[in-house]
This record gives sequence, structure tokens and C-alpha cells, in this order.
Amino acid sequence: MKRLAKYIRPYYLFIAFTMIVKLGGAVAELFVPYFMERILSEGVVPGQHDRIFVYGGLMLLCAGVCLFLNISANRMSAKSSGRITRKIRYDLFEKLVSLSARQMDELTVPSAESRLTSDTYRVNEFLARGQRLGIRAPILLVGGVVMMLTMDARLALVLVALLPIIALTVYLVTKNSIPLYTKEQSILDGMVRVVQENITGVRVIKALSKTDYERARFERVNDDLARTDAKAGAITSINNPVASLVLNLGLTAVVVVGAYQVAGGRTETSVIVAFLQYFVMILNAMLGVTRIFIMASRSQASAMRVADVLELPRDLETAPSSAEPDPNAPHIEFDNVSFSYTGVGENISALSFRLMRGQTLGILGSTGSGKSTIINLLMRIYDADSGEIRINGRSVREYDKDELCRMFGAVFQNDFITEGTIADNIRFFRDIDPGAVESAARDAQAEEFIAEKAGGMEAAVAARGNNLSGGQKQRLLIARALAGDPEILLLDDASSALDYRTDSLLRRALSKNHRRTTTVLIAQRISSVRHADLILVMDDGKVIGAGRHDELMESCAEYRLIAQTQMGTGEEAEA
Ligand code: ATP
Ligand code: MG
Repeated sequence: MKRLAKYIRPYYLFIAFTMIVKLGGAVAELFVPYFMERILSEGVVPGQHDRIFVYGGLMLLCAGVCLFLNISANRMSAKSSGRITRKIRYDLFEKLVSLSARQMDELTVPSAESRLTSDTYRVNEFLARGQRLGIRAPILLVGGVVMMLTMDARLALVLVALLPIIALTVYLVTKNSIPLYTKEQSILDGMVRVVQENITGVRVIKALSKTDYERARFERVNDDLARTDAKAGAITSINNPVASLVLNLGLTAVVVVGAYQVAGGRTETSVIVAFLQYFVMILNAMLGVTRIFIMASRSQASAMRVADVLELPRDLETAPSSAEPDPNAPHIEFDNVSFSYTGVGENISALSFRLMRGQTLGILGSTGSGKSTIINLLMRIYDADSGEIRINGRSVREYDKDELCRMFGAVFQNDFITEGTIADNIRFFRDIDPGAVESAARDAQAEEFIAEKAGGMEAAVAARGNNLSGGQKQRLLIARALAGDPEILLLDDASSALDYRTDSLLRRALSKNHRRTTTVLIAQRISSVRHADLILVMDDGKVIGAGRHDELMESCAEYRLIAQTQMGTGEEAEA
């Protein structure tokens, strides 16, 4: 909690006030049995009716004040804790959004999700209930003991003799249950992960009839969670039976010892009645204190998990500028760039190439050879480990994040379509006028299918584009990338679901209407890249062939092989 103190600090005064109100409520509650004792000893026994009314009135007043103060304090605590958690959740969300891809890789998405939801909820619960129980329980505990001591010290010793039993139980239970609750939270992370994978991958899982396997996998985490929860529950649930046992023992002892005291004329029946009430009150307070301890430690673990994210340093800061962009420099330049995602083995090794403005780079290569990684580095989603990547002669590290992003129009592999209209998806929250949206759709060869949809540009698109075909989705994504009229167009496997004719129409539209746009085109098919100014053939993070189509047909055996399998001899076939 300490690490979240800055969120609580603005509410210190308010919380202090809440606690004072709660304290008032607890004190009022303490006096209820006291006045009852007065009614019995001064009113009922001697038969003084006016006394009964006076003390009865006071008793009612105390109960009323207690009710009013408790309700007020509870409302106030809900208010402050709600606001504190809202701010924490807001900052946490903002932080999560701003994390670099590498930080997110480390954190993992499921963990981020459970931190944002269940962990902040735990913190909220502690803040709210801690304010209420945190003051009430100790006051009732200490106050109850004091009241008993002032009424009849000897009888109060009965209670004092029993308290250690409860204290010991509480201590043991708390000590054993807390680690379990911490463990529970990390199991919950695993559960979120399994559920998330299942929901995003539901089609594949069904297609491969892996439903049973997935069910078993879910059952495993679910079991694990249930078992830990049950164990923690079993341990904490010892508290209540032990408490009732002690309670009943105590009540019996008070009655027995009290009977002797009364018989000996050392105390009065009314005191015994009040004692019985205080005894119940004290035991409940004791359990309340335990509950606070358990809640505190559970939320402590959660608070840590939240603070861990909030305190992550900013990654990918903009470096101080050393050179202004130079329009005559190569538009994109990779200078001896190496990179590894995990630090084990290189995913890109010593990559160098240059592209002038308006040129097209084609990238081919087997799966996992590092094609998408080149785009990730160019967009500075990850920072290269060594070497330099320059745009207009200036390092990508020196561009302001937004400025850098605005230069690109990109279609990522497995890009996503949002729920909304077709136009919404092309515009994608940017300020782009309808004319530009139309022409982007035209260049992306999407015009025809959009016209066929009822409503045209305003036709509804389901979440994840579920009511579109693969090729329609790709065209829509390409239109989105083109709509911002970017300096640099990045197409990662964007034409794989387009037929040859559409693919070539797309390339023609790009070279005609986006002449100044530099394009990086990752493709599976030679026909998609054969007109590029530079083609890189990648294998295991290394360039094994670089040049134009004709040069590669001469110099690169792998390229020739791909060409032959895709286009017969590779020469007569025309895209
Ligand atoms: P494909 O044709 O299948 O899209 P690719 O050439 O685009 O493949 P990359 O996505 O660049 O391949 O991946 C290159 C290598 O880096 C792969 O071996 C992959 O396992 C690894 N890799 C990719 N992303 C990550 C990541 N976030 N964390 C760790 N390793 C990664
Ligand atoms: Mg890829």
C-alpha cells in the first residue's frame, strides 16, 4: 500500500474525518449495554419507572446515533475509496497503453488484464472496508474490555483468560492463509491467459477439434484455483467455529462465575446481562480485526502488482536531436542493424540497405526469418540492439513518437478490424475527409465490394470483421493504410488473400497515385515483389540475397528456386 500512498494522500483529511465519525459510532455502540445495565439496576429492580424511561431514552439515542454515524461513515469511505481506485485504474490503464512492446512481452497481456481488474478491485475493497472495520473493531475490542473492567474487574478476568486462545488462533490462521491468497492471484493470471487464448482462438480450436484438450487445460487451472481457494478458505474458516466455541465457553463461564458473585452479594444480575452483551461485541470485534489482517495482506499483494506496473520506467524515450531531417538523404536506411527479442540468438543480424523516396522494397523469406521484425524496428516498436535506422537521414530514435507514427501507413500481419462502418474502419479515428476515404478504397481495390454491400461506405462491419471475407478484410486494411496518405507504406503480407489480378491492380494503383510513397512490401509471392526496386531474401535474420528481380534470378539460388516453384521457369510467367 505504501507504494500507492501518493494516490491516498489527497484523501488523508477526508479519511481521518471518516474515521472520527466511525469512532463516534463505535463509542455510541459501546454505551448501549451500559445503559441497559442501568435500566435493570436503577429502574427495574427497585421499581423506579421514571429511571426506566430516562435510561431507555438514552439507550435509544445511542442506538440512533450509532446507526446514523455508521451509515454516514460507510458512505464517506465508499466515496473516497472509489475515487482513489478510479485514479489508480486510470493511471494504470494509461501506463499499460504506453508500455513498449518489449515491456508488454515481459508483463504479458493476461497479467496486465488481471492487474487492471481484480487487483485494483482488491485494493478498493481494502480501502473501503479498512476505513470502516479498521477503526470500529479495535475500538469495540478495547472499549468493551475497559467497560467490563470498570463494571466488575473480577468477572472481566474470565474474558481475559479466554482472549489468548482466540489471539493465538487468529495469529496462526492469518499466517497460514496469507501466502495462499498471494498464490491465488498468480493462478488467476494463468486462468485469464487460458480463457483469453480460448476466446481469441475459438475457431482454430474448433477446427482442429481441440475443444476437449482445451477444456482439460481450463479444468486444470480452474481446479488449481479452486483448490487453493478452498485451502485458504478452510484455514480461515477455523476462525469462526473457534470463536463460537470460545464465545459459548465464555458465556457459560460468565453466567457460572456471575451466579456465585451474585449469590455472594458481590455483583448484580444486571451486570451479568451487560457482560453477556459485551462479550459478544468483543468477540465480533476480534474477528473483525482478523478480517482486516487478511484483507490487508491480500490487498498488499495486489497493491504490489499494481505498483510494479505503475513504476515501470518509460521505455523508448525520444533521443536528443543530432541531425535535422535531410530530404536528400536516403528515405529509409538500415545501417548494420542487429536485434534480438529475448537476448538469446539474433532475430536480425547486421542488416543494411537503403531506399530512396518513392522506391519499393520487397521482402521474401521463410516463416520466422525476420521479415515482420524489420517493420517493427523501422516503426520503432522495438529498439535495435546495435546499428542505426534512419529516416530522411535522421535516426528513428530522434523522432517524436507521434511524428514518427504519422509517417507510416501500415497493414500488419493479422491486423484487426473494429466494429463500426466500413468508413470508420478506413478512417480509423483520424480526421480524414470523405473524398480521401473514397480514393483510398479505390486504390486498395475495395471499391467494388463496398458498392455491393447494402449501405456502401456506411455498411456495418462486425467486431473483428467477422462478416467480411479474408480478401475483403485485407482490402479494407490496405485502404486504411493508404487513407492517411503516408510517406512510407508498410504492407506485411497484405496481399496474400488477394488474387493475382487484384494484386497487380493494387500495385498499379500504388505506383500511379502514390508515386512519392516509399513502400515496404512483405510477400509470399514473387509476383508481388518482382517489380520492386530492391528485393531482400531473408533467412534466419540474415539477408541471403539482395537486388532486383533479374539480378536475384542470376545470383540467388534460393530466389530462383522460389521463382521456379511459383511461376514455372520464373521467366515467361507474368503477374
Ligand atoms: P512470417 O512469415 O511467419 O510472418 P517473419 O519473417 O515475419 O515470419 P518475424 O515475425 O520477424 O518472422 O519473427 C522472427 C523471429 O523472431 C521468429 O523466430 C519469432 O519466433 C521471433 N519473435 C517474433 N516476435 C517475437 C516476440 N515478441 N518475442 C520473442 N520472439 C519473437
Ligand atoms: Mg511476419
